[in-house]
Amino acid sequence: MSTRPAVSVVGVTRRFGDVVALDDVSLDIAPGELVGILGPNGAGKSTLLSIVCGQRKPDSGTVRLEGGDPRVAATRRGLGLTPQETGLPPTLKVGEVVDFVGRHYPDPVPVAELLGEFGLADLADRQTGGLSGGQKRRLAVALALAGRPRVILLDEPTTGLDVGGRHALWDAIRRYHAAGGTVLLTSHYLEEVQALAERVVVVDRGRVVADDTMAGILSQVGLRRVTLTSPHDVAALPGVTRAERAGDAHEVFTPDADAYVRALVRSGLEFTGIEVRGATLEEAFGQMVDAQTTEVAS
Ligand code: ADP
Ligand code: MG
Repeated sequence: MSTRPAVSVVGVTRRFGDVVALDDVSLDIAPGELVGILGPNGAGKSTLLSIVCGQRKPDSGTVRLEGGDPRVAATRRGLGLTPQETGLPPTLKVGEVVDFVGRHYPDPVPVAELLGEFGLADLADRQTGGLSGGQKRRLAVALALAGRPRVILLDEPTTGLDVGGRHALWDAIRRYHAAGGTVLLTSHYLEEVQALAERVVVVDRGRVVADDTMAGILSQVGLRRVTLTSPHDVAALPGVTRAERAGDAHEVFTPDADAYVRALVRSGLEFTGIEVRGATLEEAFGQMVDAQTTEVAS
């Protein structure tokens, strides 16, 4: 028996003027998966979510939400959404907003239960205009769950939250997922995706550059960066994942810098000015881009 994907994105391209926000993106998400979309600012994460929820149309390619067209209202009945920026009516009270949103659904979560779940019970009578940034964010995510959705899309759910607020929200997302819900969330924080997601899709400049388990992604990000000066080909040693050279300046990426340095010393090749540090996420993205290009070319 084949399972219909909760979300299916096939060959989606979306431009804004000259900017290619999404460039031939394909992605299937199975029911019950918790997938993190990780990428730097401007990578195309919000554009992708806006297309999955039917708010925007792709220029080309197709999108299916639980098998239907997300531009059709009936398809979105099982969907909960927290956009990157939410406008809450400032004079409505927290409890009233939750009640109002819930009334759009046949079987909403009771107001008190939802507020309790997100640590907002004490704020039920507070006008949303008087909430802190973190409290607003928690409310915005709570609203995504008001209608007992089967799929939720969360765009940078914990941006602007303090550590306590972030962990409370992560717990709520985990509970939703443990109960069988499908989650697609975006973040530019590795830490956030690491805390939640089983599967990570790395997006950079509108393209999917990696789609792997969290462990698979971490092994890429766990690379060490060794820089040194040498007239020799110091990259031709075991354990080198990737290297760049400009004249005598070398940049070598390896999962085990200690082993690399030992091999370098044993080789007898002269070098000066060696430095070791962790590769950044951007460098790891670059590595994934290169790896993908090589794959395609070979
Ligand atoms: P992310 O959410 O990963 O930060 P976005 O999806 O918001 O990225 O943006 C992807 C690219 O598309 C960026 O270069 C951004 O400037 C551009 N973009 C997004 N929305 C618009 C828009 N409404 N008009 C013009 N350019 C846009
Ligand atoms: Mg965004």
